[in-house]
Amino acid sequence: MKKDNPSLPIAGRVRRIKPSPSTQAAARARELKAQGRDIVDLALGEPDFDTPEPIKQAACAAIARGETKYTPVNGTPRLRDAIRAKLLKRLGATYGANQIVVGCGAKQLIFTALLATVETGVEVIVPAPYWVSYPDMVLACDGTPVIVRCGEETGFKLTAAALESAITPHTRWLILNSPSNPTGASYTKDELRALADVLIRHPEVYVLLDDIYDEIVFDGATPPSLIQVEERLVARTLLLNGVSKTYAMTGWRIGYGAGPAAIAEAINTLISQSTSCPSSISQAAAVAALEGDQSFVHKALGIYAERRDAAVELLNKIPGFHCIKPQGAFYVFPSCAGVIGKTTPEGKTIANDHDFAMYLIDQGVVVIHGAAYGLSPHIRLSVATGIELVREGCVRIAKAVALLR
Ligand code: PLP
Repeated sequence: MKKDNPSLPIAGRVRRIKPSPSTQAAARARELKAQGRDIVDLALGEPDFDTPEPIKQAACAAIARGETKYTPVNGTPRLRDAIRAKLLKRLGATYGANQIVVGCGAKQLIFTALLATVETGVEVIVPAPYWVSYPDMVLACDGTPVIVRCGEETGFKLTAAALESAITPHTRWLILNSPSNPTGASYTKDELRALADVLIRHPEVYVLLDDIYDEIVFDGATPPSLIQVEERLVARTLLLNGVSKTYAMTGWRIGYGAGPAAIAEAINTLISQSTSCPSSISQAAAVAALEGDQSFVHKALGIYAERRDAAVELLNKIPGFHCIKPQGAFYVFPSCAGVIGKTTPEGKTIANDHDFAMYLIDQGVVVIHGAAYGLSPHIRLSVATGIELVREGCVRIAKAVALLR
């Protein structure tokens, strides 16, 4: 039998990084379910709703019209117009067609933006807790992620003082994600003003604003964007967003962005040499999402808020837990400090949040450990699943904690 060549060298950029822990947890949950185990999966980072019917119909119509070919690298003119209209409506920002990028999900665009601008010696400030992919993406691009701890005491948010002390002559980007995955924390106008004051003093630092949860904000809030608070930052801010979370379209893989023309051009050059463009059919669907009736979004918000409230209430009743109420996104990120050091019925010590998450899987509930997001001891629960499952998951966590000694 022919053997695989064992000496094919895997590049350092891959050896430096690891697969996404949320993908790993999802795989573990699938594995246990396939074994017939009764598992409540609160690890998923995608809406549990189906994509709205008019969006699906728009995709079918695009196929029927024969829109099944390559599109321009930066998306169809129709999609670019829809994106520009959305940015104008939401942020009052006017972008030229040459400032828009369209990719296979916001994820591809974040990665490509870093690939276009980061190299050895370049630092990228990543406030923790962070979306799991940021540090690994920076590492894959040969850069250095500078992780800044933002604990519960600041509502999981970066302060001006922490930003100031993280900036060095090598800093190229600050990544800001509001509302945030995993905490749901959303920056207020005053908090953004304070960050903007620091950034204005450091004109060499660019800002990558990950706005993927911008429409998923609760309690009637419309949080401002950094570029609304400080117009001078528009020229060095790259906004990235997508239709995945807002319109339950994770599988369609459409992300978009807007920023300085030179960065957009560099991103487009890389896309032209890698994926060429995102699916033409998904682009037609994204136009329908952005331009169509937004009642789905409002309905989803009410449902997420109800689940968030149920989860926060149940989690705060668990001894050793503390859970801040998130202002947006569809996650809760409670502290589980009180369970660290305790022992399971099998005699295993819970030394950290990873041990705790593994113990919870054995007890029938899948969550992700805080360390994966750069802040311990916490766990992340997704409320993008039915309220009964959210409740049942929290009840199982409470029972599991009660068994610890
Ligand atoms: N940014 C954040 C903070 C996310 O949580 C996610 C998805 O989990 C993404 C970006 C990627 O979204 P997309 O599906 O558009 O690639």
